[in-house]
Amino acid sequence: MTSTAAVGHRVVVVGSVNADLVTRVDRHPVPGETVLGHDLAVLPGGKGANQAVAAARLGAPTALVGAVGTDAFAEAALAGLRPAGVDLGALAVVDGPTGLALVTVDAAGENSIVVVPGANAHVDGPHVDAHREVVAAAAVVVVQGEIPRTGTERAAAATRGRLVVNLAPAVDVDAAVLRRADPLVVNQHEAAVVLAALDGGPGTVAPASGADEAAVVARLLAHGVPSVVVTLGARGALVGSADGMVPEPAPRVDAVDTTGAGDAFVGALAARLAAGDDLLAAVRLAVRVGAAAVRGRGAQPSFPAAGDALPG
Ligand code: ADP
Repeated sequence: MTSTAAVGHRVVVVGSVNADLVTRVDRHPVPGETVLGHDLAVLPGGKGANQAVAAARLGAPTALVGAVGTDAFAEAALAGLRPAGVDLGALAVVDGPTGLALVTVDAAGENSIVVVPGANAHVDGPHVDAHREVVAAAAVVVVQGEIPRTGTERAAAATRGRLVVNLAPAVDVDAAVLRRADPLVVNQHEAAVVLAALDGGPGTVAPASGADEAAVVARLLAHGVPSVVVTLGARGALVGSADGMVPEPAPRVDAVDTTGAGDAFVGALAARLAAGDDLLAAVRLAVRVGAAAVRGRGAQPSFPAAGDALPG
């Protein structure tokens, strides 16, 4: 397979594309039980697609290296990428299902999610190698944890610009990927899991206090990660690098739906780094974009566009 995408994109996201099938239930079923869902929304999702949409909405020329299936959900999965102007020349269409997230939300707002990788399982080393020149020409390359490990590792190896590694979910990757991450972006839970993996042992205890967060960031840096951004929900983010440790508080907003907040954050960060901001300036904007994204329902529909007023 050869790439048809033009080279020279400022942001290239190598990642997942999903259709999210979301329904509301009074309560989640127990095994063996059937319950009625109240409605069904089919929404574009997947971390890779979300982040590409977030970056493109903010004005960054953006391409996505990924895959969808040959089923009817493919168009739904691409519904946000097309209007945002994301270049889909490096998007493969592979036999079989598009990646799906089956989401049920109960009356208390608690989610239960089954993710079927589908076509995302094809975004592996050979697929990424086929689009190597697109990756190599990017100012900023973004990877996450929703594609096969070999895809992430080949994307990191092909990167000539700046590599943003959002290890969500916190899957195993070669330590060489983490040593190129500038920054590694993780939430508190993922930070603890990545650190445990680098320390060489099991561990899932999330840091509980500000002091712990700083200690986790310091230890990730000590493992050779060039820079680290830990997102802290309503509290914003903590940035760590050779220049020190800097908290970036998020503006106060009325949170309606936090789905995709982390993806809005990562997309905005990539867009600003590609535009030439330094890490702190990029994070300062990203916490505001993340906060803007929690004010509306869904992931991609709530992402702000260039020129929109941001909170804070
Ligand atoms: P994830 O969804 O990946 O766990 P976080 O919950 O840490 O990520 O959120 C990512 C970013 O979104 C935060 O750094 C912040 O900028 C913004 N954000 C998330 N929740 C809120 C909130 N309740 N109020 C304001 N900003 C928020």
